[in-house]
Amino acid sequence: MIKLPQAFIEKFKILLKDQANDFFDSFQKEAVSAYRFNPLKNLSSFTENFKNDPVIPWNERFGRYGNVSGKSDAFLTGAVYSQDASAQFVGQVVDGQAGEKILDLAAAPGGKSTEIAASMHNKGLLVANEIDFKRAKILSQNIERSGICNTLVTNHSPEELLERLPGFFDKVLLDAPCSGEGMFRKDPDAIKYWNPEYNRQCAERQKEILRSTIPLLRDGGTLIYSTCTFSPEEDEQVISWILQNFPQMKLLPIQKFQGVQNGRPDWSDGNSELLKTARIWPHKTKAEGHFIAKLIKAADQEKFESRLSTPTVSLSRNRKNRKKSTVSLEKNELKLLSDFFDQAKIDTDLSTLAKFGDHVYSLPDFCPDLDKIKILRAGLEIGYFRKNIFYPSHALALSSLGEKFYPQLSLDDHQLIDYVHGDVIRIEKSDFKKGWILLKRNNNGLGWGRFSDGMIKNFYPKGLRTKIFKTEIL
Ligand code: SAM
Repeated sequence: MIKLPQAFIEKFKILLKDQANDFFDSFQKEAVSAYRFNPLKNLSSFTENFKNDPVIPWNERFGRYGNVSGKSDAFLTGAVYSQDASAQFVGQVVDGQAGEKILDLAAAPGGKSTEIAASMHNKGLLVANEIDFKRAKILSQNIERSGICNTLVTNHSPEELLERLPGFFDKVLLDAPCSGEGMFRKDPDAIKYWNPEYNRQCAERQKEILRSTIPLLRDGGTLIYSTCTFSPEEDEQVISWILQNFPQMKLLPIQKFQGVQNGRPDWSDGNSELLKTARIWPHKTKAEGHFIAKLIKAADQEKFESRLSTPTVSLSRNRKNRKKSTVSLEKNELKLLSDFFDQAKIDTDLSTLAKFGDHVYSLPDFCPDLDKIKILRAGLEIGYFRKNIFYPSHALALSSLGEKFYPQLSLDDHQLIDYVHGDVIRIEKSDFKKGWILLKRNNNGLGWGRFSDGMIKNFYPKGLRTKIFKTEIL
């Protein structure tokens, strides 16, 4: 049984009045698990297995209630991502479009970034930034598994990003660090840190981050601010602070799906514009708590009005905007790459590839100058060179480009268990020639192997290897 702090109970009795008991009761109910299908993957094999899971009302196409194991093949191939229903609402409000430049400023572990990138269909640029290096590494792994190719994973503070990319983005999501009251059900340990002063400290930090966030947007760009807390200090009151201190910021309406409520002007300065913000309550929906606001950064009144009637999307996909690599590929490296792609019958434009150290990347559109940016992942890593041999990257195997590679082998259950464990796979009879093989499961790339003398040497990354049992696969 979850024990809420007395001061929290007193506060919400006053704020929620006759709804307070329903709200408190919701903490004693189990948190609702949910997941999201990844449209960058081949989903046809999964529709039958997952067909009975209920649809999330604000993400009817891809959002489902239910549990997906981190050891299932759906997870390992990146076809699904476990994510609360309420968090999926944020991605819907961001509504990433192909060709946009989007920043997810506080992105780890990557739930919202992977949803945004999927809706961009790998076109345009997503910068998924995380201040904490350890968390940024997890974010980078999740981006990789999801087969995302248009994303830079960066590790900067908001101030450092602003120094490097002022006015650069069409959209910025700040999924702010907060007091996490909306996650108490899932993570009761978080209750220990709660006190009224903590709400105020979080609000001060959110305002500090916003001071650097707003200038990262171009004129006419959109800011999406979200928290997973109920605290008005961190929600409506932060938005009132934005409206008072940044006159060019105006609230935009958010479509309120089934159960989603308006924000509460009476919990802040009474500005009725705050009705445009959205609150997800656990006693009103099948979801954890969340708050979302959407604001446009108007240059001046005239520009603001014209933006309201025209989409804010920049549809230019000018490849000239790509920054060339500072290190060019050498002749022998180009030959190794073209041999790899020709053998696999993949037609790819090698002139767009960039090299950092020994690693080759396909950079995303609009890629800024990377010299001064702390990067963990720069678009799609194609592979690396070692002693005059080209090794395809794990990211390539999981991407839509790698998926076209031949030869390929669809793993059965036993082979899957052996492969993710890091074991050699023995093949009784095959037409395979010595060389790389793409290993697949349910029509999605899972990793690389190298065939020679009747067996496939395992190239599944050591850090991802795991023991799974047959019952866990699906
Ligand atoms: N958007 C993520 C997702 O959907 O998976 C969750 C983000 S979590 C709510 C907030 C993130 O803010 C954390 O990863 C945390 O490391 C980061 N953070 C903490 N302090 C920060 C600061 N001062 N500036 C920017 N980010 C910060």
